[in-house]
Amino acid sequence: MKNIAFFCIPAHGHTNPMLPVASELVKRGNKVRFYSFDEFKEKIEKTGAEFVSCSKFLPELSKKEEEKIKNVSQTEMSLQDIRITLKMNDFLDSEFKSFKPDVVYTDSVCFWGKLNAWKFNVPMVVSTSTFAFNQMSTQYMKNSPAELADMIFGLSKISKELKTLEPYGYHVKNTISLVQSDNNTDSIVYTSENFQPYSESFSDHYQFIGPSVFSKVLPNKTKDRPLVYISMGTVINEKPDFYKKCISALKDIDTDVIISCGNATNPESLGELPENIKVFHYVDQLDILSKADAFITHCGMNSVSESLYMATPMVLYPQTGEQYAVARRAKEIGAGVMLEDDSAEGIKNAVQTILNNKNYAKAADDCSKDFRSCSGTVGAAEFIENAPHTSNGYDFLKEVNKASGKFNIIYWIIAAILIVLFGIFVSWKFTWIIGVTAGVLSYPIGKAVQKKIYQSMAAKRKK
Ligand code: UDP
Repeated sequence: MKNIAFFCIPAHGHTNPMLPVASELVKRGNKVRFYSFDEFKEKIEKTGAEFVSCSKFLPELSKKEEEKIKNVSQTEMSLQDIRITLKMNDFLDSEFKSFKPDVVYTDSVCFWGKLNAWKFNVPMVVSTSTFAFNQMSTQYMKNSPAELADMIFGLSKISKELKTLEPYGYHVKNTISLVQSDNNTDSIVYTSENFQPYSESFSDHYQFIGPSVFSKVLPNKTKDRPLVYISMGTVINEKPDFYKKCISALKDIDTDVIISCGNATNPESLGELPENIKVFHYVDQLDILSKADAFITHCGMNSVSESLYMATPMVLYPQTGEQYAVARRAKEIGAGVMLEDDSAEGIKNAVQTILNNKNYAKAADDCSKDFRSCSGTVGAAEFIENAPHTSNGYDFLKEVNKASGKFNIIYWIIAAILIVLFGIFVSWKFTWIIGVTAGVLSYPIGKAVQKKIYQSMAAKRKK
């Protein structure tokens, strides 16, 4: 039996997958203390874990800060995370000394969980509620200009704020090392190796356990007419105009429709509802997905995983770079279509494409079987109980980087030779053109070659 401390930020999408893991660990006789926030108390206590409220450490946000958090500004979230860590310092100091955790299980962006595990030298396992991201898999993201600007201009602000942690014994190399797990960090990812992009690039410190859900129910789609489910998740879900377009798109087609609109939207503000459409603030999503034939989703990792687990194909409508990565992968396996045109007409066409072409449902069903064959919460519990893990030392990504580094050297040697030849035989005056062209092309060519090297090394490993 071990003492295990769970840490998570106040967000459903990050907390939900940790719950079945907590439940499994408790069932196996461990003592689980879950540091979270009042709105999650009931859910957490149901798992048998001890709930510890950290709500009093949440800062009062100004209107501007609140707005930024609502728009998922990574910078603002990081700054607030650092401030919460400082406010929790004395409290967690005494908790670590009295509870004496054998293992810390912390969400990947929960700074106070990670920083205290490092400070008190307690083995740590990271809960990754989206894909595992490294230099390869981040290529799946497509960040908007606003997201990119937020990240670029935010780096120095975050670095400055991180310095305030030093006097309290929290030492951080840089922001990236705090938010991105490397190949030496024990990590649990709630998807399968097949669905994770570039899964070969992660070391054996990573466990891909499949979706972490309570339900063992199998999908059952038999009913009189199709069911379409719509949700934009629990964070950026205040989208009354979008829900209205969905209603207008689906009111005349022979389907039942359920919309989960979140707490910020009043269902009555969406106008009079046709007989086939029902709107709720919050629903039992897994239960609905087990019966649904199409899901219009914002592509949060949990929603897409739950949809695939329940063999439901999707209309993919990502709102952030991270959600785009999940959407792109779902489209790649054939289990969904991107909603390129979000007018009522576009929504209707996308839903009909999913309902009329059984290949989407078949791809989702194949993925469901793959997910169900993963080690699940039992695998997660075993991995946490046995942390820290040693590795076989093989780092696939390092090998890929070594090989593409060699290519870069050859590339620049060839460019230099071309410059010299051009200078000798044509003109020295214009050699800069070759230099600039080589510089401009080096990035896309380097990336394409890296991808090729990756694919061929991955294929060799599989043999
Ligand atoms: N969820 C739910 N009922 C709802 C809406 C959402 O149970 O009416 C759950 C859903 O099952 C998922 C989580 O909330 O586990 C949403 O997480 P996701 O990562 O999809 O999106 P986020 O809310 O973090 O953007």
